Amino acid sequence: MASSTSESAELTELRERLGEIADLGTADVLLGWDRETVMPPAGAQARGEVSATIEKLGHQRLSDPAIGELLASVAEQAAGDPESDAAAIARVVRRDHDRAVRVPSELVAEMARATAAALPAWQQARESSKFERFRPFLERNVELRRQVAACFPEVEHPYDALLDVYEPGATVATVRDVFDRLRAGLVPLVAQIAERPEPDPLPGPFGIASQRELALEIARSYGYEDDAWRVDDSVHPFMSNIARSDIRVTSRWSEEDLSGVFSIMHEVGHGLYEAGVDPALDRTTLGTGVSLGIHESQSRLWENQVGRSGALWSHWLPRAQQAFPQLDGIELDAFLRAVNVVRPSLIRVEADEATYALHVILRFELEVALIEGSLAVADVPAAWNEQMRELLGVEVPDDANGCLQDIHWAFGELGYFPTYALGNIVSGQLWAAARAAQPSLEQEIAAGDASRLLGWLRENVHAHGRRLDPAQLLRRATGQELDPEPQLDYLREKYSELYSL
Ligand code: ZN
Repeated sequence: MASSTSESAELTELRERLGEIADLGTADVLLGWDRETVMPPAGAQARGEVSATIEKLGHQRLSDPAIGELLASVAEQAAGDPESDAAAIARVVRRDHDRAVRVPSELVAEMARATAAALPAWQQARESSKFERFRPFLERNVELRRQVAACFPEVEHPYDALLDVYEPGATVATVRDVFDRLRAGLVPLVAQIAERPEPDPLPGPFGIASQRELALEIARSYGYEDDAWRVDDSVHPFMSNIARSDIRVTSRWSEEDLSGVFSIMHEVGHGLYEAGVDPALDRTTLGTGVSLGIHESQSRLWENQVGRSGALWSHWLPRAQQAFPQLDGIELDAFLRAVNVVRPSLIRVEADEATYALHVILRFELEVALIEGSLAVADVPAAWNEQMRELLGVEVPDDANGCLQDIHWAFGELGYFPTYALGNIVSGQLWAAARAAQPSLEQEIAAGDASRLLGWLRENVHAHGRRLDPAQLLRRATGQELDPEPQLDYLREKYSELYSL
């Protein structure tokens, strides 16, 4: 705020325009939150039209040639101070603007139409477990994404152009390298665990009102604030960031286990990232998480490294036993084994910490092959089933439990999946760096206090918003490039202890 008097007229005008673009984006997020939580189902079509209008307005404003000119002036003025907000805005918005300009609006509209047709087809195909019904729609989505990739002829691999939307700077080459190393570590670990007897599940049922109460208490110890956050229910849990002071998370509850509690931890992790962005970036379009991978690193860290740890539960287990008296007499390590069970399975969203990334690696390799044309859409089910056998040792009984399980391809979101496993990898690196920087971290978590961890993440991750790209952020926070070893070390240490490997 203090610098506004010294701002150039171009920067002031750019900020005004970006403020409006950011506001349109926020309005769309709010419409989406409403759709997933409280909207009656019959409102879907009308909502789709409103959302499409808002997205179109945002795209028009972002691709406006006037923005391009303002960006050129601001970049020139800020050239001497590359660390300034002005320089960061010029750099990041330039990327967004160029992308918006290079993908023709007819192609954007065609993708929206193809998605609208693909979604019900996918739903029907999944219900009847017949991939063939979805095949032509997936072929169309793949074809349109290849057209998008063709708008970026400078990339090394066409898939790089798709990946870049979700994970700026990531490429097939870098992702494949870390995924290969991750897979080489995970496959033997999962096989080793499979030889051990499976731990006993926790005795249920877990009343939903009590789970919600427990989840909220833990969330507050993470940084959830009652006057700036809310929790609702939805079919698929998610987080919506309306403002730093208006963060909304959702969960889905089951009386059979505590999965709803862990899902709150996960979504609160996403929310803490958004709540912690430097206020100086509000309404600049940089005031949000930099990539889906870094975002997922935050949710995973709070859900897994913290949320499934002995440190956390040494504090919270007595409270859980109070809420669920059937847990009385369950020792801490039996509880930890039960909430950290590893079991190769068919469904990604139900997968545990050790097998999850293998589901993602499979999807990444299939997507790359689809986009480069080395795999035909018709051959997806066979390729999927073969990879499931190879990576996880499970037989896929039908397409509903195989290649039709996720909604992403119906949405045309090719390039999205790898960010989930990148999140796991980055969570391992950040967790190791935070523990090294703050040796008392786990003792404090065991005392119910996670504030020092939050402080470290705020300073090293959250505050930057989109100022730093993911690789820069990681380098500054950890001193490392993307590296799966810390995550593998963390998993090996954890499971060696739990499963006496
Ligand atoms: Zn997530």
